[in-house]
Formats: sequence, C-alpha cells, structure tokens
Amino acid sequence: MKTVIYARVSSKEQEQEGYSIPSQLKLLNDYALKNGYKVVKEFIDVETAKRAGRENFNLMIEFLKKDTDTKTILCEKTDRLSRNFRDIAILDDLVNQQSLSIILVKENTTISRDSKSHEKFIFGIKALMAKNYIDNLSEETRKGMLEKAEQGIFPSAAPLGYTNCEAKNGGKVMKYLEIDEQRAPILQKVFRMYATGDYSLALLTKQSYEEGLRNKRGGKVGKAAIHNILHNPIYYGTFRWYGKLYQGSHPALVSKGLFDAVQEAFEALNRPKQTKRHFAYTGLMVCAKCGCAITAEIKKGKYTYYHCTGFKGKCGNSWVPEKVLEEKFADIVKKIHIDDDILESIKKALLSSHSEEIEFHKKRIGILNAQKTKLENRLHQIYIDKIDAKVSEEFFDEMTDKWQEELSQIKEQIGRHENSDSNYLSQGVHILELCNKAHRLYLQQTPLKRAKLLHYILSNCTLDNTTPCPTYRKPFDIIAKGLSRSNWLPLEDSNLGPGG
Ligand SMILES: [Zn+2]
Repeated sequence: MKTVIYARVSSKEQEQEGYSIPSQLKLLNDYALKNGYKVVKEFIDVETAKRAGRENFNLMIEFLKKDTDTKTILCEKTDRLSRNFRDIAILDDLVNQQSLSIILVKENTTISRDSKSHEKFIFGIKALMAKNYIDNLSEETRKGMLEKAEQGIFPSAAPLGYTNCEAKNGGKVMKYLEIDEQRAPILQKVFRMYATGDYSLALLTKQSYEEGLRNKRGGKVGKAAIHNILHNPIYYGTFRWYGKLYQGSHPALVSKGLFDAVQEAFEALNRPKQTKRHFAYTGLMVCAKCGCAITAEIKKGKYTYYHCTGFKGKCGNSWVPEKVLEEKFADIVKKIHIDDDILESIKKALLSSHSEEIEFHKKRIGILNAQKTKLENRLHQIYIDKIDAKVSEEFFDEMTDKWQEELSQIKEQIGRHENSDSNYLSQGVHILELCNKAHRLYLQQTPLKRAKLLHYILSNCTLDNTTPCPTYRKPFDIIAKGLSRSNWLPLEDSNLGPGG
C-alpha cells in the first residue's frame, strides 16, 4: 500500500523539545515499515508564529489528487496535520471522494470514509484547538508590536491616508507613518463633509470615488471602509491597539475637534427611529428565490408574518407565520445538540489526546523554575558579597540589573506556559458545552435572544417558502453534519486503531 508522510514543526521551541522533524519522520517511517506501507513521498512544513508555513501541505493535497493510487497519509498527530477548518474540509473531501485514510500514529486513530462521525468530529475540534494554540504562539509577535505601540509607533500596516516609512538611525531601523499626499486631502474633505451632517455615507463614498480616492489595490473604497475611516482615531494622531489608546508619533490628518464633530454627526444620523417596530428574525434571512431581504408585518393586530420584500418584483415566495418560523429554527438549533454522555466522553478524549502538550508545558515550567531559583540564589549571594565588601558597588549594580532582567523574563515565560494549558483546551470545550445547552436555551428565551443565538451559530440563512435553510458557522457545521450522518456510539466501542 502506498502512503505519503506529512510532518510539521510549529515553532523553534518545539523543535528543541523533541518535536523535531527527524523524530516525526523516524516514527512515521517505522510505522510504515511495520505495517506494510510503501512511503512514496515525504512532505514537511516548518511553521513559525509569523508564517503559516502550509506550502507543502498544499503540495501534498495536489499530489494526492493526482496520484489516486496513494490512499494514505501518515501523520504524527492531528495538530501536526491541520491548522484550520479549510484544511479539514479539503481532507474531508479526499476522505469521502477518494477513499483516503489518515492515520494519526500517536493518537492511535484512523480517519477514513468508514470512521464514526464522532471521530471525524473530534478530529475537527482538535484542529480548532490547534489553531488556538498557534494564536497563543503569535502572542510573541504581538508583544513586539505592543512595544512599538508604547513608543507611539503604529505597529501595523499604514491605514489609508498614510504610508509606512523606514529610516536608519545609526544601526537601528526606525519605522514610522508618513502622510500620503495623494489620499490625505480627499480624506480630510470626507471628514469635513460628514461633520456637517448633510451627507450620507453612501453619498460620501460616491463623492470620494469621483475625487479619485482608491484603496491600496487601486480599487474602490467602499462604504464600510469609509465608515471605519471616520471612526478611526489614528487620523487625529492617536491609535487604538488591542483596546488601548496610544498617543501616536505620526502627524494628524484632522483635528480632534473635527473628529469629535464627525462622531456627533454619526450619533445624530443613526439614532434609532422610535416609530419602527423591531422584528426579531428579519436580519437573519434573505429570500431563497430572489435574494431580497426578508421583512415582517403584523396581521389582524396580533399575528406576525415574515415575507420577501419583493424589491425585485414578485418572486413567488410565500408568507410564513412567526410561530412556524420559530419551530423550524428550534430544529436548526437542535441539530448541533450533543448529549451529556457524549459531551463527557469527547471532553475526556480531548484531554487525553493533549496530555502530551500539557506534559510539554510542565517540563518547560520545571526547567524555568530551576533557572529562576538559580538566579534568585545569585542575587542573594551578590548582595551578601556587597555587604562583605567582596564586590564593588558598580559590579553589584551591573550584575543585579542583568539578573533582575533575566528573572523577570523567566517569570513571564512561566506565566505563559501556565496559561497555555487551559487556553488550549478551553475554546474547544466551551463550544461543546454551548452545543450541549443551545437547544434548551433557545426554548427558554425571548425572540430577540433567540435571534442572537441564531446569529452566533449561523453565518447565513435563506427562506424558501416556509423553511429557513441555514449555513452553520464553523465549527457548528461539522457538528450539524456529523450528527445527521450516523448514530453516535460510545467512544470505547469504536476505536478502530491505526491501520484499522
Ligand atoms: Zn423573494
């Protein structure tokens, strides 16, 4: 049997801790040899916090699509293989259409067309958590950006109206924002016009296009972008970074006064009109027949009906009473339900499959604690040496500064490792618990809260006669699909094992 091998490292840290490519390749090649697989190709990706590193994953998918004789991927663990739901969807297609098997050697799991749906589901949830893990790693990158923010340097790509510039100061590269002479005057005009309260966003969008405003790709700057520009404090000289406002070192495009006037104009223009009744589910659906919005009205003074606005002419879609709609939405919510016992067994499976990550963090914390103790002892010793006049004042200052700095870095690292254990699992578990509760919650709630829950789990919904047809958000789509596919069996009964 022909197989490919896929290996990946996600960060320098892991590379040092025995997660290395050579150790993955050895494990996988040994497995292939023992179980009668012929390895036809190895694909290896190196991923950093900054770069996704998926080139060879994509090449592998291309290879498998062409070479249909190769029906197996050998990989160490789920989080080596997939980082996002797009990948999962691609793999899922190959599994179903080309009878591909994915063998996760360390997890003792095979994903194939015959796998139980809950195994596929766990695979999906693990991938979600793996993504979460990568997000934790990119914290590193974010920290560097935070430092920039504190120096008043906007740490990201320049917003429209500015350009990113670099200058060398000694050996150091300084980055800063400079005014984009072409776009800035148009944006200033947009601010001034909006502040008068006489122009709608749509009109300003049109106007600014006619004045020659284009985005960085040369395209039209849309209404939503204009809206964001008018709300962005960067234009009066400050900027927001992870929820905090920083005083920027860049030149302002408009005064704070003009910016505030624009915000007031926004409030005045968008104050909710009291006269219009709010229907809970209108914003949730579009017409399946013509794509127009769905609106609602009250008949005979008490019955609410939903129907197509018919903006493009009569489309033949029927009217649906709110009561009927609510019952059908209840079924949509029910589709993502997970029973208590299944919830518990999946949680258990997730925890055990990540015992290795937890072990990894524990080990790092152990090493860091040893370093911490060593530094603390040194600091104590040099203090005694200073009292005993064995070392000079200067030497004492120099060394304590250095060691204190190291110590605070180590403490920070320990904190990060302590947090990552729980972060890693919490999102997956949170989603599972929501699935467990969603239907019960839905039945107890008011229409507005029901609509909010529906918005959370659905990305899109069309109304076809009296039936809402949902598109679930990820990962609820996997859950909804998985549950309708086949019955869920207790985990213990269905462990196919590798090669099974
Ligand atoms: Zn319609």
